[in-house]
Amino acid sequence: MKSARHIAQALTIAITLSQSLVAVSAGNSKPLQIYCVDVEGGQATLFVTPQGESLLIDTGWDGYGGRDADRIVAATKDAGISKIDYVLITHYHSDHVGGATQLAARIPIGAFIDHGDNTETNDAPTMTGWNAYQKVLATGKYKRISVKPGDILPIPGAEFVIVNGGGKVLEKPLSNAGMKNENCKPVPQPAADHTENEFSLGLVMNFGKLRLVDLGDLPWAKELELMCPVNKLGKADILIATHHGFNGSGSPALVHGIIPRVAIMENGAKKGGSPSAWDIVHSSPGLDALYQLHWSEEGGAAHNSPAEYLANLDGPDGGNYFKITARSDGSFDLLNSRTGKPVSYLAQK
Ligand SMILES: [Zn+2]
Repeated sequence: MKSARHIAQALTIAITLSQSLVAVSAGNSKPLQIYCVDVEGGQATLFVTPQGESLLIDTGWDGYGGRDADRIVAATKDAGISKIDYVLITHYHSDHVGGATQLAARIPIGAFIDHGDNTETNDAPTMTGWNAYQKVLATGKYKRISVKPGDILPIPGAEFVIVNGGGKVLEKPLSNAGMKNENCKPVPQPAADHTENEFSLGLVMNFGKLRLVDLGDLPWAKELELMCPVNKLGKADILIATHHGFNGSGSPALVHGIIPRVAIMENGAKKGGSPSAWDIVHSSPGLDALYQLHWSEEGGAAHNSPAEYLANLDGPDGGNYFKITARSDGSFDLLNSRTGKPVSYLAQK
């Protein structure tokens, strides 16, 4: 009996030890979460690092009864956070800064990050968004940090490098970048865009081996400054399609140059998702999938991904989102909240 009890005790100790080893290894490889929130053709992308630090890129639109702020708060709840540490405003168009007031009324925010002051002072809707943002800052509750290309955001757990902002782009290539870009041959360009889009903040996120690129609404010509003649961004696993997949951005030099495994287009039913921009992403070498927040009406049958890659189909809108669970070995799972089915992307060698 005695020896049987000793064996049982030894087994219990062994099981406890192995459980704590599992717990330690799980703790070391805690994932980073990314939510592409549906704000109907605006932007709201939430990053939560393994340490629970958070960065939200843009706040969606104003109005609609706080619809976009509510959807962002729902994402924070799903991620298990009760405060957003940093809210980065890429630029002052109303689909990006519009929701700032409503968001600030719903959840604590640590600091706002921006590119500096509004440059489009002759545009009434832009001035409305800028003035509302100034009011939020004037409460004195928030730190304001203005950043420029080359700056690294003060967020532990992942590296967020600003690569464009204030009309400028990164001067020197990132690590694992700087190669000659074979996709710089001249092609017809869209009309020049000198609005706030040109001043958009954009960033590259490095989490272990995983790299994500999000340039905000940066126009095509500015993408070329980042990508030609040398590719300053390197290869990326995930591309957030520039400017909601609108054809004023999304050059082959960028899209085909960074060779994304997965692209996510944060478009609305009637905003972004231009057929020519869709074609460039869709034909990108090595692309596994093009995810879209919405079926694009302009894209029609020929320029939309199959339903499994769409968060919101044609018709009534459920506000469905994408959630990426990313690991530092470069592997990630991408969940479409509409289907509830995650797709796993393995680490690359
Ligand atoms: Zn936009």
